[in-house]
Amino acid sequence: PPVIVWFRRDLRLADNAALSAAVETGAPVIALFIREGSAGGGMPFGPAQAWWLHHSLLALRQALHDRGGDLLFFTGEAATVLVQVAQQTGASQIYLNRSYERDDQDRDIARRLKSAGVAVNAFHGQLLHDPSHIRTGAGKPFRVFTPFWKALQSLGEPPEPLAAPDAIRGASSTPPWEQLEDWGLLPTNPDWAAGFGDIWTPGEAGARFRLEDFVGNGLRDYKSGRDFPARDLTSRLSPHLAHGELTPAQAWHAASALDAGDPAQITHFRRELAWRDFNYSLLIEFPRLATDNWNADFNGFAWSFDGALYRAWSKGLTGYPIVDAGMRQLWREGYMHNRVRMITASFLIKDLMIDWRKGEEWFRETLLDADPANNAAGWQWVAGSGADASPFFRIFNPTLQGEKFDPDGDYVRRYVPELSHLNKKYIHRPFEAPDHILQKAGIRLGESYPRPIVDHGSARARALAAYKATR
Ligand code: FAD
Repeated sequence: PPVIVWFRRDLRLADNAALSAAVETGAPVIALFIREGSAGGGMPFGPAQAWWLHHSLLALRQALHDRGGDLLFFTGEAATVLVQVAQQTGASQIYLNRSYERDDQDRDIARRLKSAGVAVNAFHGQLLHDPSHIRTGAGKPFRVFTPFWKALQSLGEPPEPLAAPDAIRGASSTPPWEQLEDWGLLPTNPDWAAGFGDIWTPGEAGARFRLEDFVGNGLRDYKSGRDFPARDLTSRLSPHLAHGELTPAQAWHAASALDAGDPAQITHFRRELAWRDFNYSLLIEFPRLATDNWNADFNGFAWSFDGALYRAWSKGLTGYPIVDAGMRQLWREGYMHNRVRMITASFLIKDLMIDWRKGEEWFRETLLDADPANNAAGWQWVAGSGADASPFFRIFNPTLQGEKFDPDGDYVRRYVPELSHLNKKYIHRPFEAPDHILQKAGIRLGESYPRPIVDHGSARARALAAYKATR
């Protein structure tokens, strides 16, 4: 009888322990993907990610075809679909890679399968290490990153990545399945994702290309350059990691190939990969990370929601150039540089005093790399409500942040074209530029580019007062 491989957020053939083990049995392989009811395993987190998922599944199906296999699509509740497929094909073994954050759900599924005579074989690969192996001396999960990182390193390197199977024996008879094309994952009218294809190549081959390009170029200046958004030195692997087209272990090991041999660059990159592991361990400990304050002291915080301010933020029309550039990069590319994520998030939370959950939601819908652990933890980190978070009272000044991390204004000019002729001195403070400078740059403040929607100084004072009142 055939064996079943259940693909979820692990849309790759290489370093796929579940697939390799299934192929090694010598039995025909039925590879399938299930569109499940709620976000998590089988569903995208938002419309941007739906675009990615569609293309990633196409790429996976093609890669399986090329090796003699196929990818079958189903919609429904996972256990029901799996039992049906097993009964129709005579399969009694299912192979999958663990998604640690849904272990509880998967345990239920495994119980239901077992009573139908089907066994689940689960494998590691989603994170650098099994999170249950990274524990404090008292056997508890870490809540602070630095000791987590030390403990992670003490486990040694993650396992060497597995090669993709050369050939996959397809099953001769399969139950009827759905067409991916009928799932409607792509935007239609208007096609706001039209530009994504110029920037991104979803799928395992695209991930591998990105990784090699990064190790050959960005990695040698990663440590000093990763905070400067105009330099584009980071890997941009996050959407690939979010869909499991690449494992963090592959990225970890590939970094060793940096020939200039500066170990500080390699270590710093690996440390960022470990942040992803850390955020997952937080999510596992606290599954409501995207909806509830980790630190309950924040439950009484007096957020204020103003729809017009929120819209200005989301559209990149706040009058603060670095914030606007970031929000427009997000809309145009489905991605935003990490430094600018921190600045735009801080602006929403502290300058506009809008609840971080509103921001988490906007990012979830628009980011191609939207990730249940990293997005929620990132927002709570900025809000100050998270584990090992930046304290609330540390409030970014968007103008100074822009001047520090985009000193020539190139990042702003790339994404806010109406400011592209403004000189370096005023690029982050058009609201202070004399009239003749604005005129020369073709800018009409309040018309072609907005005046600041809030005054940062008074917004800061208001945020600090609200914070004090909460405490
Ligand atoms: P690189 O610098 O090349 O790093 C390599 C990989 O390490 C990344 O792909 C990512 O998997 C991991 N990594 C890097 N920085 C972080 C970090 N600060 N936290 C956790 N993991 C990290 N990341 C997501 O993957 N998905 C999200 O939804 C997400 N939302 C965020 C929201 C906010 C408010 C903030 C402040 C950060 C968020 N991040 C998120 C973290 C980080 O911004 C991105 O991982 C990073 O910008 C991705 O770009 P890169 O792949 O070029 O990163």
